[in-house]
Amino acid sequence: MSYHANNLWRSNTRLTVLEYCQKKYYFNYYTNFLKDIDEKLRLDWLLLKNLKSIEMRVWEKTHHLLSDYLKLLKTKSDSSQNIDKLKQDISQIMTNEFNLSKNKDYQAWYDRNQKFWLTEHYYKIDVDSRLPEAIQKVIHNLDAFISSERHPKVVRFFEISQNVYIESPKRPDYENMRIIINGIPELMDVSILASPDFGAILWDDRYFIIDRKSGKEKIDNDTIPDQIKVYVLKMILKKWKLDIGDMDIKWYEVYLPSLKEIGGQITQKDIQDIIQKIVNDVNFQKQFIVDWDVIKNIPLPHKNFNRTTSLKKCESCTFRKVCEDLKKFE
Ligand code: SF4
Repeated sequence: MSYHANNLWRSNTRLTVLEYCQKKYYFNYYTNFLKDIDEKLRLDWLLLKNLKSIEMRVWEKTHHLLSDYLKLLKTKSDSSQNIDKLKQDISQIMTNEFNLSKNKDYQAWYDRNQKFWLTEHYYKIDVDSRLPEAIQKVIHNLDAFISSERHPKVVRFFEISQNVYIESPKRPDYENMRIIINGIPELMDVSILASPDFGAILWDDRYFIIDRKSGKEKIDNDTIPDQIKVYVLKMILKKWKLDIGDMDIKWYEVYLPSLKEIGGQITQKDIQDIIQKIVNDVNFQKQFIVDWDVIKNIPLPHKNFNRTTSLKKCESCTFRKVCEDLKKFE
C-alpha cells in the first residue's frame, strides 16, 4: 500500500462538490492541470479557489473562535479576560482581512501567501455595511454556545475524559485526518479524510463525537450523517478492527446559531453502511481519472466533467468567471 500527496482522496466535502457540479469538482481538485490549457486561467482559478462569500467567512471564523475557546477550556484558562481577548482578536483579524480584500487589485498576479479574499469584492459588490454584522454573528455564536445547555456537558468532558480531541481548523493536519482502510481492494491506495470538531474518550470504551453545523437544520433527527459515521470508522480503525464490539459511541450535531442538537448511538450496521458508501463514492470518483489509477490520480480531459444545468448554482458559484473563460478552450 502506498500513500502519496497526489493519491486520490475521498472526503464528504469532495463528494458533495462532485455531486453538485462535475466542473466545479475539476476546478477545485485538479487546478494544476489547467496549466496545460492556459497558465493565466490556472492563476485566475487559484485566486478564485481562495474566495469565500462573507457568509462563508462568518462560518469559518466561528469555527476558529470555537476551537480556540475549547482549547482555553482544555487548559482551564477560560477566564473572562481571555475570552474577551479571543473576541477582540477575531474582530481585528476579520477587519484586517476585510480591508485587505477590499483594497486588493484583483487584476494583479496571484499571491499564494494572501488568501483571504471575499467573493463580493472580487465581483465588485459593496459589502462595507455588512462587516460589523458579520463580526457580531461570529461573537454571538460563541456567546450562544457558552450559555447553552451543551456547554456544562462539554466542560464535564474535559474533567472526566481520558483524552479529548479538538480540531484545529486554522491549520488542518491532513496527515492526522487520513484513514487507512486495509483489506478492502477498492480502497487500496485511496486516502479517506475525516476529522470531527470535537471528540472525547471516556473510560470503559465510551466515546462522544460532536460536530458543529451551520445552515439549514435537519428535520429528520434519526438519520446519522455520513460524516459522523466516517469519524467513527476512523476511531475504530485506530484499534485495527472494523467492528464496534462493546464500544459505546454517541454522536451529536450542534447547529449554530440556534444550538439545536440532534444525536444518537452508532451501531455496527452504520459502520457496514458507511464502508459500502465509501466504496461506491470512490468508484464514482475513479470514473474521472485516467485508467482508474488512484496513485497517479490524473484527471480525464476537462471536457469530461459536465457543467451543472442549474442556473441557480452558477449564479452563486465562485468559479463562474473562469468557468465561462474555459469555454474558449473547449
Ligand atoms: S459556474 Fe456553474 S457550471 Fe461552472 S463550475 Fe460553477 S456551478 Fe459548475
